[in-house]
Amino acid sequence: MAAKAMGYKVVIFDTMKDGPASSCADMTIVAPFDDTDALGRFALAIDVATVEFENIPVPALEFLEKRVPVHPASSVVRICQDRVLEKEFLRDHGFPVAPFRVVTSAGELEAALAELAAPSILKTAVLGYDGKGQISISPGDDAEVVWVMLGAPRAVLEKRISFDSEASVICARNATGSLCFPVQANVHRNGILDTTTAPASLPAAVSESARAIALGIAEKLGVIGLITVELFVLPDGSLVVNELAPRPHNSGHHTLETAVTSQFAQHVRAVCGLPLGAVDLRSPGVMVNLLGDLWSGGEPDWEVLFRETGCFLHLYGKEEPKPGRKMGHATLLGDAPTALERILSLRKKVVR
Ligand code: ADP
Ligand code: MG
Repeated sequence: MAAKAMGYKVVIFDTMKDGPASSCADMTIVAPFDDTDALGRFALAIDVATVEFENIPVPALEFLEKRVPVHPASSVVRICQDRVLEKEFLRDHGFPVAPFRVVTSAGELEAALAELAAPSILKTAVLGYDGKGQISISPGDDAEVVWVMLGAPRAVLEKRISFDSEASVICARNATGSLCFPVQANVHRNGILDTTTAPASLPAAVSESARAIALGIAEKLGVIGLITVELFVLPDGSLVVNELAPRPHNSGHHTLETAVTSQFAQHVRAVCGLPLGAVDLRSPGVMVNLLGDLWSGGEPDWEVLFRETGCFLHLYGKEEPKPGRKMGHATLLGDAPTALERILSLRKKVVR
């Protein structure tokens, strides 16, 4: 992204042609991340670089960092793209995480399962998303079978947490300070985010500690930009950090309509060194994800959503609707639980 006195231009470095992101670009450089000529041209075209997902090879970011400011820094992306480094970072800085073990073989998994002695989840260290790269393990399951099924060289085994609810906090940090959006409540189905309710209806003390944890993590990471902190809320109100994302997050998409400043605008402000925007909600709201499953009878009937006052539809322009694939989301302004029940019922009605 390159800021100019009379506006700005967006330059995207993309390894895939025709991605939906290119529609907002003034210029797209399509090349592999190890093409240093292309990265050099990219660096010359921009004033500051950022990322929209964390699985960018760290050497590419380090290359750019020698030429332009990169926010979040490669050191932050390195941690957030690897569950092992992320968990160790959180634990070593005193943030609450589920008990976990790092495993690199079936033998290590067997030992770790004996130590944790509980229902647990095995997660690949890298490239997992939307519940992919995870296997639920019950006591008595065969370590060898599970390890072969995971098919990854490094993984984290973590205790399955019996949470009351899930929440997330999106925190923006720049050189002058940090600001958190209100804590939001998330519900996942099959490991995929299904709904987000903003604000979360948690006791004030729980929301306050969620915000304190997010601010603490932002500070310790030294992130410039956004950091999203996913949390489990336990029955006693205590919190466990699940994972981090150094970027705008699916659970923050509702901010496009609910907040004074959207998470996307906030990210740009933070990485460009502009003042952070106000994070107050203009309205409470709920967001539901629209997965490819809704296309079972053909293109869904979106008019159902357009007829609803305060309902906003966002489709991502992905060509092929597959079950479990995030194709878009819809936000409905209003207080939960009424708004949530309403949007869930509307989502059923769009299916033909
Ligand atoms: P992803 O990168 O796919 O979002 P997560 O680690 O956030 O991976 O897991 C996805 C979802 O799976 C979580 O939001 C939660 O619902 C469930 N989950 C993950 N880890 C645990 C755990 N330790 N205990 C209970 N549920 C979990
Ligand atoms: Mg997650």
